[in-house]
Amino acid sequence: MSDKIKFIETSNLKQKPVDENKLGFGSIFTDYMFLMDYDEGMGWHDARIVPYGPISLDPAAACFHYAQEVFEGLKAYRAEDGKILLFRPWENFKRLNESNKRLCIPAIDEELALEGLIKLVNIEKDWIPSVENASLYIRPFIIATEAKLGVKASSKYIYAVILSPSGPYYPEGLNPVKIYVEDNYVRSVKGGTGFAKTGGNYACSLIAQEEAHEQNYSQVLWLDGVERKYIEEVGAMNIFFVLDGEVVTPSLCGSILPGITRKSVVELIKSWGMNVSERRITIDEISKAYDDGKLLEVFGSGTAAVISPVGTLKYEDKVMEIGGGKIGQLSQKLYDTLTGIQWGKIEDTFGWTIEVK
Ligand SMILES: *Cc1c(COP(=O)(O)O)cnc(C)c1O
Repeated sequence: MSDKIKFIETSNLKQKPVDENKLGFGSIFTDYMFLMDYDEGMGWHDARIVPYGPISLDPAAACFHYAQEVFEGLKAYRAEDGKILLFRPWENFKRLNESNKRLCIPAIDEELALEGLIKLVNIEKDWIPSVENASLYIRPFIIATEAKLGVKASSKYIYAVILSPSGPYYPEGLNPVKIYVEDNYVRSVKGGTGFAKTGGNYACSLIAQEEAHEQNYSQVLWLDGVERKYIEEVGAMNIFFVLDGEVVTPSLCGSILPGITRKSVVELIKSWGMNVSERRITIDEISKAYDDGKLLEVFGSGTAAVISPVGTLKYEDKVMEIGGGKIGQLSQKLYDTLTGIQWGKIEDTFGWTIEVK
């Protein structure tokens, strides 16, 4: 182990989940976590892997008051041959630094972060589930910890990585989800923090999700915050539309999170010799395509669900039923290819995965 990263071992290990079919998402945590501190003048220091446990903070710590916080989400996969794989993890650390920049958090060393993650996952590899479509969810995050109520960028931070064995996102399989187009609340505007993975974007969107659940919809589709007509993204997923003759996803215009799954979907489709348009697209255009019988598939993309087919899309009083309750051809192909690469079932010709060893 690199001497840059200390390892504080414990003999007090937890019991691993007995039934891997009942893991759920994000509620079980492993024995260890990665920590690193930042202090003004010293930079990031004391990278270490320590027993998982509470972090003690001053009640005046900036993260509690002004939401100076960023996070990431990725997974470790156990392949059939026992190999442990990560999917494009360097992209997560690159994006973490993009988020850091927006939130005035000092950049981390991406190489050290990747090295630390690989060491942590290696120590915790027995926690990676082996049942179908289950994985070890990885949550890196940074919080501002300076104890000071004055509004300014903190002079102290903690970077942490925690691991959570998690079951398949949709335990019943790849069923189409119902979403509605949100026309009251907005998530983000250009110039805001929409492109950064930061807790505040979620805090402000919870109310829309609660209201959607009350109406038996699983998530909302956000429109742009200014004109309320351009499609942006879904909760924690980017969105794609398969129109007759064109695959479209909203362009990254500053208010949308640049998903790594989104990027992979675009690259995959192009590698199959098809076109993907990254452009602005209005909800009216989608609505018209639906009327003309040209809205063939709609799907979300994100690390958690990989590809999530949308079966019902509601806008104002109009309910659009897409794909007859079934997953579309392209959605299925993308899902099979992405999960195939992630779980090492098919050859990774893109160089997207790395083995943890
Ligand atoms: C994380 C996230 C996504 C998906 O990004 P991936 O890198 O594909 O997991 C999409 N939208 C939002 C708001 C997110 O936070």
